[in-house]
Amino acid sequence: MASNESAIGQEFDVVVIGSGFGGAAVALRLAQAGRSVGILERGKEYPAGRGEITATGHGTPTIRHGHFQIDVGYGMNVIRGIGVGGGSLHYFGVRLRAHAEIFERKGWPGSVNRKVLDPYYDLAGDILKAEPCQPNPVLGFPARSESFIAAAKKCRRCQREPHFVPIAVLTSQESVQTPAGIPQTPCVFCGECLIGCPPSASFEGNVNARALLTLNYLALAQQHKAQIFPEHRVDRVRKVAGGFEVDVTLRGEGLPNPHGSLRAKQVVLAAGTLGSTEVLLKSQRTLPPMSKKLGHHFSGNGDFLVPKTKDTVQDLQPKSGPSITVGADFSTAEYKIFIEDLGKIPFMEAVFGMKKDTDPDFKRYELGYLGMGTDAGNGVLAMRDGRITLYWDPTDSLPLYREITASLKELSQQLGGNYAKPANYNPVTGTGLITAHPLGGCVMGDTKRNGVVNPQGEVHGVPGLFVADGSIIPTALATNPSYTISALAERVAFWMIHRREMTDGDSDTPPNK
Ligand SMILES: Cc1cc2nc3c(=O)[nH]c(=O)nc-3n(C[C@H](O)[C@H](O)[C@H](O)COP(=O)(O)OP(=O)(O)OC[C@H]3O[C@@H](n4cnc5c(N)ncnc54)[C@H](O)[C@@H]3O)c2cc1C
Ligand code: SF4
Repeated sequence: MASNESAIGQEFDVVVIGSGFGGAAVALRLAQAGRSVGILERGKEYPAGRGEITATGHGTPTIRHGHFQIDVGYGMNVIRGIGVGGGSLHYFGVRLRAHAEIFERKGWPGSVNRKVLDPYYDLAGDILKAEPCQPNPVLGFPARSESFIAAAKKCRRCQREPHFVPIAVLTSQESVQTPAGIPQTPCVFCGECLIGCPPSASFEGNVNARALLTLNYLALAQQHKAQIFPEHRVDRVRKVAGGFEVDVTLRGEGLPNPHGSLRAKQVVLAAGTLGSTEVLLKSQRTLPPMSKKLGHHFSGNGDFLVPKTKDTVQDLQPKSGPSITVGADFSTAEYKIFIEDLGKIPFMEAVFGMKKDTDPDFKRYELGYLGMGTDAGNGVLAMRDGRITLYWDPTDSLPLYREITASLKELSQQLGGNYAKPANYNPVTGTGLITAHPLGGCVMGDTKRNGVVNPQGEVHGVPGLFVADGSIIPTALATNPSYTISALAERVAFWMIHRREMTDGDSDTPPNK
């Protein structure tokens, strides 16, 4: 359980801002290394492991109560997680390493590549285990997974064998314990990954098939005495003698003193792409001068959401099984492209009253997709009316979106259905997309001229201040990013502790316990 006291007035060796994939990894490693660690998280704690979607949590630029929010931007919207566990509260569990060629793209520092990152991927993969979906003993595989694979195999544009992707969802039928000793029981194929696993039929608590960070990294960090402070929103960071002062606003207007500050020798920003960029932009007057790149090189990871194949002859069972199960590589000579199946979320249809049809089964004869690719990564994040705002000009990414569309049309044809574009997408202008994978804004670079942080995550010009989340990634990954964020955060932590690179079989590799 997270702390229910206030962090105001306290002092830590390290304050970690944000409890998502980046923050959870850094917090654990620093706590294991004996540092006193305070994790400040803007959102609530969800002790039952299930988030909550409220009416205000959907379609409005800001919310305070749901476990994710949608930020309405210019040219593209962004969806991101809020709460103890960050994006893991609603993620679909896909854990893919970025392709080696991604790190060769312009923008990546030469010292960060797939070979260097592999030991950190291994470390993170051991704590947040992922495996390809196994068939449910009663239901088998969802029909959509097998149909997707069969159709993709026939596509001329498909580059490699389509496959079941590794997901941090327990689908094999043996119950296990996470490295933190928390029980996980097998997935019941309910299709509700966006809100979280349902209560277990056999014991008090949730099924916990999908590996939330509260089941592993964060629980372990607490076992090593890290403290988590939910509903502590960081407004700015100030440089002071001997370290930093962190200004926070506590949620709950009724509180006698909702504003205050705390101190730390070192600060790690892990508030996500929008959150970390926002805190640094707001801290420009209270920190030494930072790179002019702050807010630049935003990428939507080429996300193309949610195109569909409609009117298939076969029932594709889109509401059965984990929300993502399979994927296929549709890269071209110019772009890396990866396409995954996207199940329907039964809860969303029930709560938000998705359009009913005369045929109650009509949505079983369609399949949604998540397309990802190497977009131009030329978005800008800036403050507008006190709120972090995305400015996305899709012009340079239009050719990529056209290639993704061509692949989806071929896939739809092979599935025997009709292609439908994402609902609000304008294929002429490239506007109307939403990204679930925002990246950039505080990108890595060898110098202050080309990056906000150095290749080890330390802010250029501000020693002792680090960033460890999706915001430091300088280009699209063209795969789901959480695994790469975990690996990069493991690396930031290792450098903070040892001031050197961790290698394969390194004697200082931290234990996952
Ligand atoms: C529906 C959906 C499904 C997804 N599925 C997958 C998937 O299957 N696989 C995958 O790899 N990726 C997936 N993603 C993407 C993944 O969730 C993100 O890439 C990932 O969470 C980003 O990690 P992060 O550490 O950068 O930040 P986050 O995980 O977003 O964590 C940042 C945290 O910081 C907090 N915060 C923000 N501002 C402040 C502040 N000022 N003060 C204090 N705290 C603050 C936030 O509340 C949040 O908890 C999915 C995303 C969505 C929307
Ligand atoms: S399908 Fe249901 S049980 Fe399985 S991981 Fe998703 S939410 Fe959990």
